[in-house]
Amino acid sequence: MTKALESEASLACFSAPPLFPGPLFVGRPQSGSVDHFFDRLRDMFQRNQLTNHGPLVQELEAAVADRLEVKHAIAFCNGTVALEMMLKALDLKGEVIVPAFTFIATVHAIRSAGLTPVFADIGTNHLLDPDAVESVITPDTVAILGVHTWGQGCEVERLQAISEQRGLKLFFDAAHAFDCTHRGRPIGGFGAAEAFSLHATKVFHSFEGGLVTTQDDALADRLRLMRNFGFSDYDTVVCGGGNGKLSEPAAAMALTNLEGLADVISLNRRMWETYRASLDGIPGVSLLGFDPGERQNHQYVVVEIDAEDFRLSRDELLRILHAENVLARRYFHPGCHRMEPYRTLDPRAGARLPRTDLLCERVLVLPTGGQVAADGAVAIADLIRFCQRGAAAIRTRWGRDA
Ligand SMILES: *Cc1c(COP(=O)(O)O)cnc(C)c1O
Repeated sequence: MTKALESEASLACFSAPPLFPGPLFVGRPQSGSVDHFFDRLRDMFQRNQLTNHGPLVQELEAAVADRLEVKHAIAFCNGTVALEMMLKALDLKGEVIVPAFTFIATVHAIRSAGLTPVFADIGTNHLLDPDAVESVITPDTVAILGVHTWGQGCEVERLQAISEQRGLKLFFDAAHAFDCTHRGRPIGGFGAAEAFSLHATKVFHSFEGGLVTTQDDALADRLRLMRNFGFSDYDTVVCGGGNGKLSEPAAAMALTNLEGLADVISLNRRMWETYRASLDGIPGVSLLGFDPGERQNHQYVVVEIDAEDFRLSRDELLRILHAENVLARRYFHPGCHRMEPYRTLDPRAGARLPRTDLLCERVLVLPTGGQVAADGAVAIADLIRFCQRGAAAIRTRWGRDA
């Protein structure tokens, strides 16, 4: 399947054929049984209830609450709306502390909820740093929104202690963390509430979809009203809200994917192990590890490239990989604080986010899942090793071709 890598002339960026005949993506959808999905759709058409909190959505909510050992799971049309409604539900006004090393939706949701995002730096684990959080608290701070990046649990206990001490609400963006644990407990039950994304690129999807999980009965009631325009009855509206409803076909997809999730995760795990073994010992490449005591969904294979030891920058490696049809991705480059409207609103945020800036220059996420397969992961790792060894020749050739 793969070509021999003999000299820099073997690389597709120098016009050789690519390592893979077609593109390998990060975040390729992984779906369960198509037959089971269509069976559910046939039943749905029989009932002729297509949306508005139908039986499939109710079944999904019960299954998720059970799996995540949380009292309430409330389904939404997507993860961003789930985040927005979660942040709006408590009528907070003021500043919300959030990492800038996250998907832009985390930050947009804060702003859509009428709140002001304030960025705090991350630690070497890529997660919101509690010390950095404390350093940006002001009298206007009302909440902390942690992100369980790559499915790793945030420093929940320290963030909880800070929130209690300062009278803040604590929320989590758990979009990466379905079926992951923190200190042995499923993510979903921490803080006031947690929001998940069921987008097609996530490990567990409903095409488009989202969830908020919470142990708080009053908050759950409020969220159920808000997602249905605030209707408590046919013609009674008791609060603000919008259309946050998940459709029945989306719930059918989620239920089908829930059946197959264990297989998806074990495949991801085998892929991650293969990458770990194959990337081992390449100077300047470190694979993000996971706590073996926690359950992980392994949907992201995350490496950091140290340009000095690797002898090529992350972006130079990315250029080589893309030419070979390995569509690795820079994640959350260049950082939310360097994207609009936040760049204009707080142009000096970068000064207090050194670790965020550094990581945005180093992180690379590699394709995984069934499309790659074990021999593909080995071939990608071999290619990365070849680039490190041949860095000088690659640079010379780029210089010549320019
Ligand atoms: C995917 C994602 C979201 C947004 O979810 P959608 O379902 O796409 O709206 C929010 N935060 C993070 C960290 C994500 O990865």
